[in-house]
Amino acid sequence: MIQQTLSIIKPDAVERNLSEDIKKKFLENKLKIIKIKKIQITKDEASEFYKVHQSKPFYEKLCSYLSSGPIVVMILEGENAIQENRRIMGATDPKNAEEGTIRKEYGISIDKNSVHGSDSPDNAKKEIDFFFKN
Ligand code: UDP
Ligand code: MG
Repeated sequence: MIQQTLSIIKPDAVERNLSEDIKKKFLENKLKIIKIKKIQITKDEASEFYKVHQSKPFYEKLCSYLSSGPIVVMILEGENAIQENRRIMGATDPKNAEEGTIRKEYGISIDKNSVHGSDSPDNAKKEIDFFFKN
């Protein structure tokens, strides 16, 4: 099934000029970049975006971090795009990520793990609307 999903290149990766290398990973794996923009969000916006995690101990730090510098947000499209993007990204903690994944190659730590990707069709829709609904 052709799906769309939301991808974010997080501040640690944008800052290290890794955006082009990360985009290449998606394209090589047959995901198309349908829309893309470089923005910086406020802490309030990050708190809204990550509100599913509001009860977690890392929530505060996560929201500060996502709003700490420019990010690149993208709509990716392709066959099973949601699951495919998660596979290409690798495990949340770069230490556990498979060889060849974005987080294995570029992630610094569990918090500076270079990319975000939607985890379900419902969240993909919500997250795409969050960044791209005018
Ligand atoms: N995170 C963290 N500490 C943790 C778990 C998660 O800093 O113990 C951060 C991490 O950057 C992750 C984000 O919170 O990407 C969202 O967590 P989630 O479990 O949704 O991981 P993801 O879907 O990004 O793999
Ligand atoms: Mg998640």
